[in-house]
Amino acid sequence: INNVTISNDVKPPVAAVVEELEEVNPADASLLMKIIRKGLIETKTDLDIQRKDPNSPLYSVKTFEALHLKPELLRGVYAMGYNNPSKIQETALPTLIADPPQNMIAQSQSGTGKTAAFTLAMLTRVDTAKDFPQVLCLSPTYELAIQTGEVAARMAKFCPEIRIRYAVRGEDIARGTKLTDHVIIGTPGKVLDWSLKFHAFDLSKITVFVLDEADVMIAQQGHQDQCIRLHKHLSKKCQMMLFSATYEKKVMEFAEYIVPSPITIRLKKEEEVLDNIKQYYVRCINQDVKYQAIANIYGVITIGQAIIFCHTRKTAGWLASKMAQEGHSVGVLSGELTVEQRLAVLDRFREGHEKVLITTNVLSRGIDIEQVNIVVNFDLPVDQTGRSDCETYLHRIGRTGRFGKHGIAINLVDSEQSMKVCRDIERHFGKKIQLLDAENSDEIE
Ligand code: ADP
Repeated sequence: INNVTISNDVKPPVAAVVEELEEVNPADASLLMKIIRKGLIETKTDLDIQRKDPNSPLYSVKTFEALHLKPELLRGVYAMGYNNPSKIQETALPTLIADPPQNMIAQSQSGTGKTAAFTLAMLTRVDTAKDFPQVLCLSPTYELAIQTGEVAARMAKFCPEIRIRYAVRGEDIARGTKLTDHVIIGTPGKVLDWSLKFHAFDLSKITVFVLDEADVMIAQQGHQDQCIRLHKHLSKKCQMMLFSATYEKKVMEFAEYIVPSPITIRLKKEEEVLDNIKQYYVRCINQDVKYQAIANIYGVITIGQAIIFCHTRKTAGWLASKMAQEGHSVGVLSGELTVEQRLAVLDRFREGHEKVLITTNVLSRGIDIEQVNIVVNFDLPVDQTGRSDCETYLHRIGRTGRFGKHGIAINLVDSEQSMKVCRDIERHFGKKIQLLDAENSDEIE
């Protein structure tokens, strides 16, 4: 009786979109950033320093020699290929290794040298004449603890007498064990077990306490309380340091609770800007037309490398197979991949094996790939309620001074709703987003 119409509209219904939205787990994101980073991030912004007692001297060094480290440690630092301290290290290191010890809260984005700084401080403080744990470093996850441990082991390469122990899942000790390692790097739960339950070491004898990735730590269920429980058993003389990549109120309140009378240093992130980015939008009636628009643009301009952002995994997969069918080499980065798989995709892209990377929101902030000169928003960034997400837009399209130069951003608009989002973004940044006729992409140049 009724005519059944089968819709060709490939767009998933709204409920499905919300369900499939990619969530980034902060611990995973942080781990990936660490592994991806091939070196220091240089920032042009200034260091912001705050301290309770403005009379206490504050030093800064331009060389590692100026720190008067043990020669074996200095050798370790150079063997890692560090020639000079990073910006955050210039100020943090003299303070962290000074006597009397000073407490510190340091915040700067991932890749600025925090881990190397506190690892060096930890190793400097070890007294190998004493056979018990003296340095305790807490990390939010197993993987992050291992990462830090590996940095410590490399740095201590020429100090074989320093013993480092992981307190993480899989590492077990027999009841009654008394640890003789100097440095413990672990996750809060395991450290609680070893110290308070098994009495394998004495928290009150810890002289350096490091809380790394505080922002990730408080995002993990229960970790904050465990840290506080451990912290209660530390001695008043223990040097406390806390590191965080972000600077939210929650994190800083926790930091100030954990670290009394700190010197706080903060390296603000270099702002991303839309200068030098030409922004366009293309009107498309449906997903297939969006695909066609990409194909047209791709056919006309000589693209270095492009990143295409989709809202869901499903769209990303659909687009990838369609482009692959037409002979384009594409990489896909989405949330279901393991850390290793994501790294492999990024490495291949970075090495130029693929010209196009199709991705969901996952890690859009981590992809600082210089050779990318076109960013396509296959779907415009919106928040859970469907409103324009200008911050994400900026992270996708914007460049910092480091990457300078020119870029093109193309937004594919397929409904009144997405047109409105596009207009909102345009208004928000006060930068024109021009209409582009995808049939006639000569206009781009
Ligand atoms: P963060 O903890 O802030 O993310 P890391 O300490 O992990 O930063 O440093 C980021 C990257 O830079 C790592 O690959 C590290 O080996 C490297 N690195 C750290 N300090 C220096 C330095 N002084 N010189 C050169 N490379 C450095």
